[in-house]
Amino acid sequence: MAPRHLYIHVPFCARRCSYCDFSIAVRATTPVDEYVTGLRTELDGLRPELQGATLDTIYLGGGTPSRLGGLGVADVLTTVRDRARLADAPEITIEANPDDVNDMAVAHWVAAGVNRVSLGSQSFDDAALKWMHRTHDSLQIGRAVNTLRRGGIGNISLDLIFAALMGE
Ligand code: SF4
Repeated sequence: MAPRHLYIHVPFCARRCSYCDFSIAVRATTPVDEYVTGLRTELDGLRPELQGATLDTIYLGGGTPSRLGGLGVADVLTTVRDRARLADAPEITIEANPDDVNDMAVAHWVAAGVNRVSLGSQSFDDAALKWMHRTHDSLQIGRAVNTLRRGGIGNISLDLIFAALMGE
């Protein structure tokens, strides 16, 4: 059966959160060009699987895909479109951290076809966010939601963590 869904892992994060055991790479500067070059090679290797496929969904997870910035996400999606057919109205999601959301980035994401954002909010308690080593505070969550909506993305989910234990 031809694939209908594509998950792309973007492993880069500004720092590792205290609860995180995902496969990530902490980088002060995200190596966007090197990543996209590597992705092209990976997808080229999947040409037989992608041939004849029509993708209903594309999901950029991480890590922190929003660390690719506006143009980096656009490059990733161009790389996919060059190698796979997309459905008429595909759902294209990226995971984003609130502090990466700004008008310019959102404009690039929307122009590239992104229509859903999963926002790494985790908590509205600033003390908990600090303990988690998150890079945003609680106010930035609401600002990011407003910026996404203003930019044309209404399909937004918030990642929240419950039952995290505070440090002793
Ligand atoms: S942002 Fe997500 S993937 Fe990155 S370190 Fe934090 S929990 Fe892990």
